[in-house]
Amino acid sequence: MQVSDRLRNINGGGADGWALFERSREMIAAGTPVVELTQGEHDIPTDPSILEAMHAAALKGRTGYAPIMGLPQLRDAVADRIAARTGVPTTRGNIMIQPGGQAGLYATHLAALNPGDGALFIDPYYATYPGTIRGVGGLPRPVTARPENGFRPTVADLNAAAEGAASLLINTPNNPTGVLYGADTLGGIAQVCGDHDLWLISDEVYDTQVWDGTHVSPRALPEMASRTLVIGSLSKSHAMTGSRIGWVCGPEDMIAHLGDLATNTTYGVPGYIQEAALFALQAGSALEAKVAAPFKRRRELTLKALGKQNVLRPVHPDGAMYVMLDIRATGMSGEEFGNALLDAEHIAVMPGESFGQAAAGHIRIAMTAADDVYADALSRIVSFAQSLT
Ligand code: PLP
Repeated sequence: MQVSDRLRNINGGGADGWALFERSREMIAAGTPVVELTQGEHDIPTDPSILEAMHAAALKGRTGYAPIMGLPQLRDAVADRIAARTGVPTTRGNIMIQPGGQAGLYATHLAALNPGDGALFIDPYYATYPGTIRGVGGLPRPVTARPENGFRPTVADLNAAAEGAASLLINTPNNPTGVLYGADTLGGIAQVCGDHDLWLISDEVYDTQVWDGTHVSPRALPEMASRTLVIGSLSKSHAMTGSRIGWVCGPEDMIAHLGDLATNTTYGVPGYIQEAALFALQAGSALEAKVAAPFKRRRELTLKALGKQNVLRPVHPDGAMYVMLDIRATGMSGEEFGNALLDAEHIAVMPGESFGQAAAGHIRIAMTAADDVYADALSRIVSFAQSLT
């Protein structure tokens, strides 16, 4: 029997740069301790108060089918949060609850693209982006965000790729680079979307992790609310990666169509998870700040440690839980450096090449180990890099 072309091709084939991650997992399974600074996974579990809310909801009977669009109270809470953070009038009709941001990325691309339509995304990119586009039958069109432009896309590069495309996917604060798009970049993006009649899919799952500057949602820019689909998630903001809960925010008619999709795919998100998410959002920004605090601390630690040397050059981390380092002074590629570091120091980081060609010659460090472990790993990474030059 044959597997469909669409599913077979979803991963694009060839090396995806994740071999190092697999190798580190194999070393751990074989008993070698490895400091893993690879995945965007918190080193703390979900707050017990959220788990208690989840437990109570399950015991209360929220274990049956839940409303497919999401619990009305949760949709209201998400809408209120977005309205408060962006100033854009937002109601329940603009919100569809999703089983995580990734499901939202898939749903929005399925909604925005017809088979064969071009879909723009920015390189470097979060690993699933091209597969998501291929998965819905779209044609991935990477737009390079160059290191010399601070890893932000230029209007000229966007325009050059946009002819005949149907969507543009952006992510700010950004994984893997940690950069935040400012007013200039977002204004240019809005201009290109208007000129080429593109849907803008705005992945904002790191919007509570901002260290420098202010996060601006492009949905708040003039004329953009009618063509922007925002992806949100509690994975990063509330350390709820395993609960699979997020949302899409967009124009009401598009949101209604996403309901049709969910009826035929996920059939909604478990009620007890949604009630826990409602509790988490109602707990307010203090809980979000508590979850973000370790990354803020470790980001300071990183900048301090790297300030004393000049072999590893950090991309200024404005937000998110990562720091990207330019390792080209060592003469190695990101992949070579990452593999040599894993062998010599038993520290696993992601090669920049895992996130596209624009990040070649870089590594991405996830700031996801306890402060003392993280600080020690960082100083060993620096010594290792210095030993290569
Ligand atoms: N978007 C970006 C940029 C991410 O880094 C991630 C996860 O790492 C996701 C989306 C998916 O998040 P979720 O757990 O909400 O599916």
